[in-house]
Amino acid sequence: MAQSPVPFPSTYQPNPSISRQWIAFKVIHKTGGPSWAVVDAFTYDLHPEASSYLHYLFGSARSTNTIRAYAQRLAAFFTWLGPARLNWADGVPVVSRFIRELAVSALPASEQDTAYREPRYRSGKTLNQYAAALTQFYMWAARSDLISEKTAAGFYETRIAYGFSGDRLLPGKVSRSRAVRVKEVEEAPKFLDEEGAGSLLAATANRRDRFLVALMLETGLRIGEALGLRTEDLHLFQDSRAVGCATAGPHIHVRRRQNPNAALSKSATPRRVPVTEAVCTLYHLYVEDRIDRLAVDSSPMVFVNLYSRSHLGEALKYSNAIKMFYRSSTRTGPRVNPHMTRHTAATRWKRAGVPGPDVQELLGHRSATSQHVYEHATDQDLRDAIEAVRPIPRGQL
Ligand SMILES: [Zn+2]
Repeated sequence: MAQSPVPFPSTYQPNPSISRQWIAFKVIHKTGGPSWAVVDAFTYDLHPEASSYLHYLFGSARSTNTIRAYAQRLAAFFTWLGPARLNWADGVPVVSRFIRELAVSALPASEQDTAYREPRYRSGKTLNQYAAALTQFYMWAARSDLISEKTAAGFYETRIAYGFSGDRLLPGKVSRSRAVRVKEVEEAPKFLDEEGAGSLLAATANRRDRFLVALMLETGLRIGEALGLRTEDLHLFQDSRAVGCATAGPHIHVRRRQNPNAALSKSATPRRVPVTEAVCTLYHLYVEDRIDRLAVDSSPMVFVNLYSRSHLGEALKYSNAIKMFYRSSTRTGPRVNPHMTRHTAATRWKRAGVPGPDVQELLGHRSATSQHVYEHATDQDLRDAIEAVRPIPRGQL
């Protein structure tokens, strides 16, 4: 079948007369059970084929969650079809194209990842869930005579395994596999191993960056929290009572506030995180550079621009910190995004046997279970956690 050229949907301005936005919509079946349909987002008209199929799933006693997932995938597919000006009944070519375009369409930014702004994409697993749902829909459509047998047959590839019986080659097991499928690539590890963490630290170009990376690897701070630190938040003394703080040993305070570099600490509840002597030393080395390089230093921020002529002494920005991470990591291996240091810290604590609630508290998560709401880690628990992991080799300064 000849295909007319179709515009790429993300840039194409859909004509409202032909494009409809379909959504998954919860309905109460007349037998009383909750089910799902696909309806027009504005008129609430039922999508005939999708809704008939969902009704069939309801009749087959599929779970409400399954039906909802199918409804959402079908709604996305039929919404995409409008601007693409394709006919769903053409089968595999249309579904393949949908899956390919879904694969390259970035997901909306998640609230969780304010610090890390690289576009995110659906995983191979998610894409296969779409492909599987649509394949099932087409199988139903074939049984309902909405598409031809030939179109339906395209959705499966049949393989016959031959085997010898004595000296005769005989057909054996017949297997069917879905024609539209996506290779599920194993995701890159989200944390650094000891060696990766060590080489990232060693690849930093100056004392400020080395302190930043070491601090994040050790404390699991989010990049926004680290950049938002003020010098008054650093209690790097054995005893901080002179500055009005009873927490023993060197530590930092993470507080939520609006900062000049647009860094916002995400935690609503302030927390304190112990730090090691090694990190204190890196901070003092950074301060030496800061005193050397700034004639006038009026910034309350811990991380400021020191190594470029522009914006000297101003708060270090997110975008520059992220570039620094990319630059440092690609010198020695795969690109590291700042959030990986947080996963690295959490992984190292868990591997060192730090109890779950203490890890949660260090990370500034609300307790994993409500039981732990009144159960707070002591200063010593948190310090034990920080010191339970082996120091990361710091490289030469
Ligand atoms: Zn303190």
